[in-house]
Amino acid sequence: MHSHMINHINTFIRTAVAVSMIFLVSASAGAQKKISIVAHRGFWKCEAAGDAENSIASLREAQKIAVWGSEFDVHHTGDRKLLVNHDNTRGGKEIELTELDFFTTDESCLLKNGEHPSTLDQYLKQGEASDKTILVFEFKTSKNCNEDMLVRKSVRSLKNHGLFNPSRVMFISGSRHICEVIAKKYPQFTNQYLKGDIAPKDLKAVGINGIDYRYLVLRQHPEWVAEAHALGMSVNCWTVNTAEDIQEMIDLGVDSITTNEPLLVRDILGSRELLNL
Ligand code: MG
Repeated sequence: MHSHMINHINTFIRTAVAVSMIFLVSASAGAQKKISIVAHRGFWKCEAAGDAENSIASLREAQKIAVWGSEFDVHHTGDRKLLVNHDNTRGGKEIELTELDFFTTDESCLLKNGEHPSTLDQYLKQGEASDKTILVFEFKTSKNCNEDMLVRKSVRSLKNHGLFNPSRVMFISGSRHICEVIAKKYPQFTNQYLKGDIAPKDLKAVGINGIDYRYLVLRQHPEWVAEAHALGMSVNCWTVNTAEDIQEMIDLGVDSITTNEPLLVRDILGSRELLNL
């Protein structure tokens, strides 16, 4: 055989090997991309938690099933203490205008499982129990909220519990200001903006390193997933509860799914579920 013929064959083989390796690598990258589950307000939809969102029991159950993350909501009370609760009101009173004691003692404030709403300290005490379930800490804001103070006090409390560590807690907020404060002071933490009204590149420009958008927003803006990833940002979505919507978000390429149905998401993900092991 002529040597130039051999060179051609060698080039052909090298090219074929290179191309098939690219296919193999990209196929396995696709297959191996793992997705984490965040239990929305804890794993409350089970007998042991008695349907009580944001309860200590819901966090404990999330830890028991070793889900990657467990989300909860934190407010400032009237006396500038920290309370775990979703809405801005409880027992008919505005949280930001009412002293903590009312919420932790008055019967009108009881959760569905009979627990009183917990202080942040009580909640973090349970958070300490497992390093397999990351605390997904949502800063709630309200019209008179001193957001800087809310962050400062929360950080102090996390430090007191040995949880101020990016492998134990991440932050989410619908307040752009709070996300910017976290980005400036604590850039090592995952910090996702919630409201869904800002493109990833504009968040990245001020140092915010993630988005946690409603799945309907990502359906409208599927390009934001790739945009965020290209900028090194994480992508989470809420609150995804049906098999169809869960599959849609998996196919979009999100990193994390926040859900009231962590066991359903687990079934759908199978070996693609990301765990903290
Ligand atoms: Mg929340």
